[in-house]
Amino acid sequence: MTSILSERIIQMEESATLAMAKKARELKSKGIDIISLSLGEPDFKTPKHIQQAAKDSIDEGKYFSYPPVAGYQDLREAIARKLKDENLIVEAKAENIVVSTGAKHSIANVFMCLLNEGDEVVIFSPYWVSYAEIIKLAGGVPVLIEGSLENNFKATADQLEAALTDKTKAVIYSSPCNPTGSVFSKEELEAIASVVKKRENLFVIADEIYELINFTGKHASIGAFPGMFERTITVNGFSKGYAMTGWRVGYICAPLFIAKACEKMQGQFTSGGTGIAQRAALAAISGDQSPSQEMEKAYLKRRDLVLKLIQDVPGFKTHVPEGAFYFFPEISNFFGKSANGFKVSDADDFCLYLLEKANVSLVTGAAFGAPNCVRISYAASEEELIEAMKRIKDACAILK
Ligand code: PMP
Ligand code: GLU
Repeated sequence: MTSILSERIIQMEESATLAMAKKARELKSKGIDIISLSLGEPDFKTPKHIQQAAKDSIDEGKYFSYPPVAGYQDLREAIARKLKDENLIVEAKAENIVVSTGAKHSIANVFMCLLNEGDEVVIFSPYWVSYAEIIKLAGGVPVLIEGSLENNFKATADQLEAALTDKTKAVIYSSPCNPTGSVFSKEELEAIASVVKKRENLFVIADEIYELINFTGKHASIGAFPGMFERTITVNGFSKGYAMTGWRVGYICAPLFIAKACEKMQGQFTSGGTGIAQRAALAAISGDQSPSQEMEKAYLKRRDLVLKLIQDVPGFKTHVPEGAFYFFPEISNFFGKSANGFKVSDADDFCLYLLEKANVSLVTGAAFGAPNCVRISYAASEEELIEAMKRIKDACAILK
């Protein structure tokens, strides 16, 4: 029977991160003691002063109507100021900013506005799950360039240059990276920028959503480099650095014609993002930054803890992540092994095995373009992390 649903949705993969989180939630609701390290979501509460700003905005009663499509003017100005002062993107003005319902929505707007059927987008791989599906939905073709474990999973500017064709329209990466936690240095980004600048009409989508969780202390924005403002769409948001995943606020800073296009797209799809959440975002970006700094410190402590625990599991190979809150170990050593009638053939099986036998949920690296790896999110308490790694170690030890 031919399906009633569109080819577009039939061809789309479900988000593996959200699917695993759903599975873990279902098992938990059946009373099974699952430790969920699958979802990239801070386990901290949104800081109090941000919560208070949202409450105040309700009491003020001014933010119940449709907000301007591209976001409230004062929020757009505050974002532009931050990008100028902190990221050194000196050309950033309020008119370049479009506020959306999360950075995922921002990325969808950008690809819907940039891509024609058959346009290619180079993705630095391993990559965040949603990039490829959004690109395909917009008619584009994802082209992966792969970073090796030896180079902390970072693909290089030379690889980018080799991947460019007449059809390449854009390049996308995240730094700090989901899923690897790797951070591009200023020099690495300069090399990427010089490749991009050699071509006309080639754009960089720089996903900087983990900017505030960067243990190197040096965040570089490619949009700040000479000649790059007109070539760069900087994507950021409030979900990670301010523990505001459920508030759904993200933004882009883009050349004016792209910002205007995204505003037009958003005006037909969703309208402006929730007013109350935008008031909370304004408090986040312009208020006390110390809660975010405390969270970053806590993630660093957990990174060091989990690093020791992972190094203690025979068969796991890992680099040392420099940001975000993920480990991305190589686990192909377990492929072909079995325990209690369960055979592990690939990373998907490995995750299912750990879910069933260790009651720990991780995400398969296959979803991020790296089928020999798994992603461990360490946005969890130290107690949970210690227990989870003990269970993983025990479950791995019986795989023969
Ligand atoms: N980019 C990356 C790399 C992410 O990990 C996420 C997390 N969901 C997003 C974008 C989207 O974030 P949000 O929609 O919550 O702002
Ligand atoms: N970005 C997070 C993750 O990778 C949240 C889930 C999602 O939106 O995919 O797990």
